[in-house]
Amino acid sequence: PAASSPPPHVAVVAFPFSSHAAVLLSFARALATAAAPFGATLSFLSTASSLAQLRKASGGSAGNGLPGNLRFVEVPDGAPAAAEGTVPVPRQMQLFMAAAEAGGVKAGLEAARAAAGGARVSCVVGDAFVWPAADAAAAAGAPWVPVWTAASCALLAHLRTDALREDFGDQAANRAHELLTSHPGLASYRVRDLPDGVVSGDFNYDISLLLHRMGQRLPRSAAAVALNTFPGLDPPEVTAALAEILPNCLPFGPYHLLLPKDDADTTAAPADPHGCLAWLDRHPARGVAYVSFGTVASPRPDELRELAAGLEASGAPFLWSLREDSWPLLPPGFLDRATSTGSGLVVPWAPQVPVLRHPSVGAFVTHAGWASVLEGVSSSVPMACRAFFGDQRMNARSVAHVWGFGAAFEAGMTRAGVAAAVEELLRGEEGAQMRARAQELQAAVAEAFGPGGACRKNFDKFVQIVCRA
Ligand code: UDP
Repeated sequence: PAASSPPPHVAVVAFPFSSHAAVLLSFARALATAAAPFGATLSFLSTASSLAQLRKASGGSAGNGLPGNLRFVEVPDGAPAAAEGTVPVPRQMQLFMAAAEAGGVKAGLEAARAAAGGARVSCVVGDAFVWPAADAAAAAGAPWVPVWTAASCALLAHLRTDALREDFGDQAANRAHELLTSHPGLASYRVRDLPDGVVSGDFNYDISLLLHRMGQRLPRSAAAVALNTFPGLDPPEVTAALAEILPNCLPFGPYHLLLPKDDADTTAAPADPHGCLAWLDRHPARGVAYVSFGTVASPRPDELRELAAGLEASGAPFLWSLREDSWPLLPPGFLDRATSTGSGLVVPWAPQVPVLRHPSVGAFVTHAGWASVLEGVSSSVPMACRAFFGDQRMNARSVAHVWGFGAAFEAGMTRAGVAAAVEELLRGEEGAQMRARAQELQAAVAEAFGPGGACRKNFDKFVQIVCRA
């Protein structure tokens, strides 16, 4: 900034649900470090309960481990005071978004200003989901620079929702297997791969409304958009179709790679209380299947049992991150057999990034959440995708049919299907090709994040846009 202008004060607005806030916090850490030479301070805005969770995950009650120029600021969650803990998540999202739209983000920006000794917010960065930040930014005379945390093809689907609805009307179910050939950038996807709420499902469901309105707001209000992808991953037609609608897209994902390595390995990386890494150390290279369905999805009980039986039938050692409330649903004796033979380890949480980087992990059974797909490919682990909802089907389609570094369970997981998929990924010829494809992309990620690489340059541009606002 010019000598006379005050140092930048950047607000970073989180979407406080599922893995979104954690992804944005690691983004904000990297931004705080990169923006420090500009004298910038950052205010990270999320709800009280989300901030408490993030503090816990970063290992301290006062948010230790955060860069010195990054502070946490609360925004209203919109929930009635007495109802804490009893409100189902979709309702929490609805309340949060209603509050955000009715002045919640604006109140957050005012709180940020007060906490920063009156320094006005000069730029509003934030999770694109929280589109009301666009209005709050405009009212504060600051640009809105949204961060997209999911895949580019999913963003394209949300940007094109009106056109897609016009095309398919009420025929989406009948035309489920049709390719989207008349929609630029989407020709590799079928109608059935589109995220829920674009052409199927309940258009009035809160998350559908949120994404629809976000898709309408982004082209009008975004000064620039951060994309969670790296050059070489998205096919050229996807990049071109996005650039047509959002000319200021900057790809520099996976965002977790923006952190300086020491930071990522120590402060930001989750601890390993269940000894996953030590367990992996005892297994041969690329021999283990790692299983996780992220922070929200869970298979139905019958499918969970099929998966468990399939893992046993594959004969491969497995590390499975499974929420503890699902353990009673596992087949009788499964946990005991895994423990007594040492063939499997089931944990309520695994430090996924270091797990996927561990040389013993050779296959990833995943729900194809976007962070998981990126973490898998940047560690060159081929995957078998069981998509559940949201953008997961589209991601699974990309993995299996666009990039070819994995396969998709199209009709759910069966014992035989899981055993065959794990076997193939670990020891099959097709599995070897998938691994080779993942390795090519891993090399592209490494180059993009190396000195002078495309993601570094795009991030530098992003930092300039944000700090010079
Ligand atoms: N994750 C983890 N340990 C687990 C399960 C999940 O560290 O045991 C992390 C994973 O590394 C990823 C995130 O949680 O960063 C899940 O994000 P994703 O987008 O894949 O799925 P979501 O949870 O949003 O459905």
